Amino acid sequence: MDLKQYQALIKQIYFKKDSSRGISKTFNWLVEEIGELARAIRKGEREKIKEEFADCLAWLLSVGSILGIDAEQAMDKYSRGCPKCGKTPCKCKEERIRES
Ligand SMILES: [Zn+2]
Repeated sequence: MDLKQYQALIKQIYFKKDSSRGISKTFNWLVEEIGELARAIRKGEREKIKEEFADCLAWLLSVGSILGIDAEQAMDKYSRGCPKCGKTPCKCKEERIRES
């Protein structure tokens, strides 16, 4: 399945529930899942990381559906490489501070 098909699938499964809950609460669920992914990464739990990754993406796709965003279309932003420098791989100077 491609991204468009996954967004359609997640929409079929959850859109009714997620849209009636509303964007704020649904977005909070996404953030909650990101936190669970962070914990799994910290613990180095490979299977859990994979599960939480899928949950994060599913929630993000659902947030997109509520906001009327086509995920595949939105990702066009990256289709020609880094949106800032236009290179693949990106040649931008690192600006954000990363955890070591
Ligand atoms: Zn770049």
